[in-house]
Amino acid sequence: MPELIDIASARRLVLDSVSRLEAEQVPVAEGLGRVLAEDVRSDGDLPPFDSSAMDGYAVVSGAAGTLRVVAESRAGHPAERAPAPGEALAISTGALVPPGSDLAVIPVERVTQRGDEVVAVPESEPGVNVRRTGEDVRAGDTVLHAGTVLGPPELSIGVAAGRAQLRCSLRPRVFVLVTGDELVEPGRPIAPGQIRSSNGVALAAQAAAAGADVTGSEIVPDEPEATAGALARALERADVVCVSGGVSVGRHDHVRPTLERLGVEELFWGVSLKPGKPTWFGVRGDAAVFGLPGNPVSAIVAFHLFARPALRRLAGADPEETRTTALLDAPVRRDPRREQVLRCRLSAEADGWHVAPAPNQGSHILTSMLGARALALVPAGEGELASGARVAVELLGSW
Ligand code: AMP
Ligand code: MG
Repeated sequence: MPELIDIASARRLVLDSVSRLEAEQVPVAEGLGRVLAEDVRSDGDLPPFDSSAMDGYAVVSGAAGTLRVVAESRAGHPAERAPAPGEALAISTGALVPPGSDLAVIPVERVTQRGDEVVAVPESEPGVNVRRTGEDVRAGDTVLHAGTVLGPPELSIGVAAGRAQLRCSLRPRVFVLVTGDELVEPGRPIAPGQIRSSNGVALAAQAAAAGADVTGSEIVPDEPEATAGALARALERADVVCVSGGVSVGRHDHVRPTLERLGVEELFWGVSLKPGKPTWFGVRGDAAVFGLPGNPVSAIVAFHLFARPALRRLAGADPEETRTTALLDAPVRRDPRREQVLRCRLSAEADGWHVAPAPNQGSHILTSMLGARALALVPAGEGELASGARVAVELLGSW
């Protein structure tokens, strides 16, 4: 393995190699989690008309008095006319308040009934309990910007702004290959020397959680021809190919020479990272290929550090959206040469985010990932990083 590259430089190489995909129209009902590829302007004012914030009576504002109820304005059914002095309109929340800056809405709790169609109302100021046209958004205002990840509020405002469809970046297509003669499909019995292929499912799930469309997942034996065939097919069907295992220097590790044979240009191999050192990255045309370690913990960590940012950039989102800092809850022995990535629990304390590393950080300890909501990045160096030290953190979110 050549000299190891540091995490930040490796990430830069990855991010410089990919750019936002084309865009497509997406029905708003299918927009959750997608990334906007356009600015969205409202086709009208929001609220679109003066409306009542309360159930009550619309009146000409001024002194207290006894008024005749002459009509009703219900949500979706505006009154035919405005109240004149001495008159009141029964009105419900969200119903149209007739034009006129001198009107007010008196909440029903503050009104005394004086017979069937007569009410006593207290004094009122003009405009109270009236939501004004355009108070939130003016017609033509930009309400959403390109690059925004669509959550429920963004979808809500998109609809309010007049849209049934939103232009979103395409979801990156990901193909997952897991290599190894020892691998067995989930649910199958294992013979001595075999293991169940957990990486196939884990990497596909990580890709899906990053907004990708997983177009396939296969187990590939440790044979040059099978490796070449699988990689060639995957490259045809994906923007990003993730291969796990077979990327080290063992006699049966065929991934790197095969990728070279297929014309995939190596941009780095070997990251100063623990766990995840043998990570490989290369490109062919618009396709990016990640050679991830076979070790399941290393594969998950390396995917999150390198493949996820690539997928987010392809999808048009900010690839650094998961990066923050937190305080270490326990001292950590540093590694003299490699940056460590610790699987941590995450908690919100009075002084901000805290991370508590799982007790056993061995790269073969699968359970160290359970309940981990953050990866803490501990720089290489001598001695210990003290409890309470601030470290860079990658949030795992809800995957
Ligand atoms: P390799 O990088 O191919 O040398 O694999 C490193 C370690 O990861 C070995 O112990 C493999 O058995 C294990 N491994 C490789 N692929 C998978 C997989 N898909 N699921 C679980 N473990 C794997
Ligand atoms: Mg292997």
